[in-house]
Amino acid sequence: MELSFKKIYFFLIVGISIISACLQGASDIPPVAENDEGAQHMVRVLISQKDAEGGVWLLESLSPMYLRAFDVSLGRYRRYRIEQHRIEIFYKAGSFIINGKRFSNVQFELMPSEGKRLLFEGKEYEGSFIFCVHNESCLVISYLSLEKYICSVLKSESWPGWPLEVNMVFAVACRSYVVAKMLQARKKKLLYDVKNTNIHQTYQGFHTQESLKKAVAHTRGLILTHKKKPVMAMFDSCCGGIIPAHMHGVNFDHAPYLARQAACNYCKDSKLYRWKLEIDQHELENLLQCKGLNVTALSDIVISKKDKAGIVQEITICGNNKILKVSGKKLYSWLKPLKSYSYIVKKRSRKIIFSGTGYGHHLGMCQWGAHAMVSEGYRCPEILGFYYPGTQIMKLRC
Ligand SMILES: [Zn+2]
Repeated sequence: MELSFKKIYFFLIVGISIISACLQGASDIPPVAENDEGAQHMVRVLISQKDAEGGVWLLESLSPMYLRAFDVSLGRYRRYRIEQHRIEIFYKAGSFIINGKRFSNVQFELMPSEGKRLLFEGKEYEGSFIFCVHNESCLVISYLSLEKYICSVLKSESWPGWPLEVNMVFAVACRSYVVAKMLQARKKKLLYDVKNTNIHQTYQGFHTQESLKKAVAHTRGLILTHKKKPVMAMFDSCCGGIIPAHMHGVNFDHAPYLARQAACNYCKDSKLYRWKLEIDQHELENLLQCKGLNVTALSDIVISKKDKAGIVQEITICGNNKILKVSGKKLYSWLKPLKSYSYIVKKRSRKIIFSGTGYGHHLGMCQWGAHAMVSEGYRCPEILGFYYPGTQIMKLRC
């Protein structure tokens, strides 16, 4: 698979300088996994953030753990072996307390024994954990190689049962996205690259899905680039036939690869393509009141503005002799069962009926569309080229 992939496309090599230039000196936390594969491409994922003195964290391992921290008196990093298989950590009065012992560093790293994994709050993770205090918050950061991170996020961002080619497409998109975020975070000198939620990419630690491991291995180091820079390869479940280039309010100058001019008709048979949501008038009134809008006796609801792509920009709500306007973005964030930004709305008796297309934000790759393209015989590079126009596949030097 990998050979034919390489035959079709000439992979330019992304000079290590693109990545490493931004990694160097950008973080207070030096890379520590010297023996880990691709140690130069390490991802920092925020998995917990609490008030510094408000959290207690539990870590477990079946074998001894190691703590690495800077020793001021020695002027270098030191490693301490921890025999206990369970560690309780909290922060108090300027120090971390680790299994009852005071530890004065405001930042340290916990590592498993070689080849082992750590359990953090019941979930197993590859790599190590960095604990640090910043602006009166304690951050717990999972620190692991890029390839292991991609393998992990595919479990949540993909469908293990789908064909290998589809998961290869997702692996390249997820890798491109996180590499772009890594560069952005390190330029801004942030303490982490991405969060572990769907704000970025859902990351839930280690899994044993062989099909996903294979998709990662077959695309190892491959990313999508635009003018030799990694692209923020966004994707959603189903685009609903929206033409992203026609969407209003997206900065396509900044991300021209998201301005797809061609409609994706591949997802039309997907069960997510069309949706309907019926809610009671009273339920919508309650929701709007919770958000500070004084709406009672709702008499009508209409879409008052849509952009050229069909994305709802503004909704007008009439009730108790008032006319209120709500932006499409706000209603989407308030009304969780709304599946997308593309819909019509009607009032029928005491029911409010939304009928729409797609599932998600309509930008970038459409996952159900990509699945259908694979069924029609398209290969990974063609699919990525369709959803992210003007991009090239390049290979990170690992
Ligand atoms: Zn689609």
